[in-house]
This record gives sequence, C-alpha cells and structure tokens, in this order.
Amino acid sequence: MARACDPMSREGVRAVAARDASIQCIFCRIVRGEAPSHPVYEDEHTLAFMDIAPVSDGHVLVIPRAHGATIFEVGAEDAAAVARGAKRVAHALREVLSPPGLMVGQLNGEAAGQTVFHYHVHLIPRREGDALRIHGRGPARPERLAELAASLRAALAKVP
Ligand code: AMP
Ligand code: ZN
Repeated sequence: MARACDPMSREGVRAVAARDASIQCIFCRIVRGEAPSHPVYEDEHTLAFMDIAPVSDGHVLVIPRAHGATIFEVGAEDAAAVARGAKRVAHALREVLSPPGLMVGQLNGEAAGQTVFHYHVHLIPRREGDALRIHGRGPARPERLAELAASLRAALAKVP
C-alpha cells in the first residue's frame, strides 16, 4: 500500500510539475477554453490560432494540446503533430494571403527569446522589404484577427 510519505518517482514529479504549470499557462487556458483566441485549426493533438500581437498580418501559432514548455519537454508525437498542423495551416495562409515568403519559427528558452513556455511554432508571412522582428510591436485589431481566422478556416477545408 502506498504511504503518504513515499518518495515520488521522477515521472511522478514531472507529471505534477506539468500539471501545475498548465494551470497558469496562457496556451493551456486557450486549450481548455478558459481564455479567448481566434481559432484557425484543431485536431486531436494540436490547435492553431492567430497570434495576438502579430509580427506580420497573418501570424499564426500552432501548439500541442498537451503542455510541455520547450522542445526538450514536448512529446515526440506532439512535436510531429504540430509540424503536420503547421504544414496544413501554411497551405491555408498561401491560399488566403499569398505572401511571397513564409517563415516558420520556434523558440526555446529565455535566451532564445521565448516568452510563452508552452511549445509552439510560429507561422509568419514575410513580404519583400519587411524588417525581421521576433515579436510584434502591439496587439492587432481583433476584427482583423477574426476576419483572417475565418478565411483560414474556410481555406483549410480545401487543404487535402
Ligand atoms: P514566443 O516568444 O516564441 O514564446 O512567442 C509567444 C507568442 O505568443 C508571441 O508572439 C505573442 O504575441 C503570442 N501570444 C501571447 N499571448 C497570446 C494570446 N493570449 N493569444 C495569442 N497569442 C499570444
Ligand atoms: Zn501550457
């Protein structure tokens, strides 16, 4: 019989840490429907939604539903699912916005500039002459995010 003072296994400690992190995590709150988002795509393992402070018009984030802070904590299957979701959303972005370029980015750790510690991939439409920045300068107009999210959802229905 397990005693209250039994030391927890390494896996148990990790599970408790992930659960505690996910309670406050803004992306976990979006997954649970506790925080608003402009959703673009979802499947069993992933979600995609408009970045609230876009680097460029059409900036989308793709995340695993399961919490993992960085590439080192996220499960391999979840990372693969995010990559598949990102490819689908990329096709929708091309259909809706026809950007001449599309940057796919993923930051790990404060030193790399990561600000939300729930693994995610950025899809950032790029145009000739734009100045590369890691983060946008402020919030986008919610009407523009809603309009883009609706167009991308419609375009995703046609992605094979
Ligand atoms: P990173 O620096 O790679 O961790 O990027 C985090 C990104 O999440 C930034 O581009 C933020 O603008 C974006 N972000 C933060 N909070 C939200 C939110 N509630 N909804 C949508 N995007 C968000
Ligand atoms: Zn999270």
